[in-house]
Amino acid sequence: MTDRYERQRALAQIGEEGQRRLAKKQVAVIGAGGLGSPVLTYLAQAGVGTLRLVEFDTVGITNLNRQFLYTEKDVGRKKSAAAREKLALLNSEILVEVRDAELTKENAEELIGDADVVVSCLDCISARLIVDEVCIRKKIPVVEGGVSGFFGFVLCVGGDGPCLECLGYDAAMDQKEIPVLGAVAGVIGSLQAAECLKILLGAGEPLYGRLLQYDGISGTFDEIEVKKNEACRLHRRAEAGKEK
Ligand SMILES: [Zn+2]
Repeated sequence: MTDRYERQRALAQIGEEGQRRLAKKQVAVIGAGGLGSPVLTYLAQAGVGTLRLVEFDTVGITNLNRQFLYTEKDVGRKKSAAAREKLALLNSEILVEVRDAELTKENAEELIGDADVVVSCLDCISARLIVDEVCIRKKIPVVEGGVSGFFGFVLCVGGDGPCLECLGYDAAMDQKEIPVLGAVAGVIGSLQAAECLKILLGAGEPLYGRLLQYDGISGTFDEIEVKKNEACRLHRRAEAGKEK
């Protein structure tokens, strides 16, 4: 069969079965900005059956140095509508569900729904911690990624691995208008998409308990082994919630 998936179906980790498996999966992507652009693009192109996109923001001109889902013509439009349109042009065989909402403690559970994997593409630590907590409670793997300037990181949250709070991230660290080089957001978002596809396929070794850091200035990657903090309040709350 010749179709758009030919070159990836040829991989031992995918094949006919893996391709069918991807078509049945649902991924929630929280944030359709600098990280969300590569994540949504690659997941759509790979043939993930349902993409749920959560984004409340409007396209601004300052987004265009990195958020390649949008063009100058989209400035002033809702990102959710513009992203859905672009993704439908890339792959009409998948379903793109849009939730035009800001993720909060109150709505996070509903927005995440019963996704197989959540990819966290947020620029705000407080919302990331909410995503981690809901997903630990619901046993949904999260692919975290973040960027600042020339630097970025990726970590998969789930199983016995740590969450962002275990690593010392705190809502008080939230910063507005973080400087970002578009290409660095592209590196990190592409890694998040690859990790998400690995988890969906059950292939390879996802980055659970392994923090991958990218330093674009020196052009180096570092892998740091990270462990769950037994005193982590987020983990404790999420695990207490599981028993209810
Ligand atoms: Zn934790």
